[in-house]
Amino acid sequence: MSLVVFESLKQIHCAECRQGPLRHLVREAGVPRCLDCADLGHLVYLPRGDAALTRRSREASSLSAVVVRFHRRRRRYERLGLLVEDAALARAERDCLADSEARARRRERDRLRRAAEDTRFTAAFAAEIVRLFPGCPADRAVAIAQHASVRGSGRVGRTAAGRALDESAVSVAVRAAVRHTDTEYDALLMAGVPRFAARARLAARIDAILDGWRSLPS
Ligand SMILES: [Zn+2]
Repeated sequence: MSLVVFESLKQIHCAECRQGPLRHLVREAGVPRCLDCADLGHLVYLPRGDAALTRRSREASSLSAVVVRFHRRRRRYERLGLLVEDAALARAERDCLADSEARARRRERDRLRRAAEDTRFTAAFAAEIVRLFPGCPADRAVAIAQHASVRGSGRVGRTAAGRALDESAVSVAVRAAVRHTDTEYDALLMAGVPRFAARARLAARIDAILDGWRSLPS
């Protein structure tokens, strides 16, 4: 059971000290009193809206009061906020800030960890390309690996087989790169040539390039 403070727009004055009209007042046995006379004058007002800040302020405050106002149309009291000790509010604000900073630091650590994983994976992918295709230029191998391992892309590097550096998955990525980069495949597609026809037309050329890459350049 918490103390209740009423917010009022009426011309109500304190029964004890006569000050008013009172925006915030306490009713004791139906008698209105100002916050000072009710020994709540030292509290500060925290409007509702931030659940974590409200909860922490209330927990840290040895004295607190709920501020309500009667909503005529809804015919019920509605909670507007909380009166809490200034020091409690300050502490709650510090705690909430520390929380959000901790969350930001955790996000940054996660981001760095993922970036490091991606870098390691891309390097391993490129190394596997070079192992399978020793004649593939090193910069091409890196470019293919980077392209294949873009996070969230659904590309072969993000599939289970790709993550495991499965030989056929790596070969599929290299073949796709050769098709797009070393042949006029994309131009054929743009010109309206059906995909399978374009692939069939270029298959021998692609095989020749891949065969060339399978051995070390002499
Ligand atoms: Zn008073």
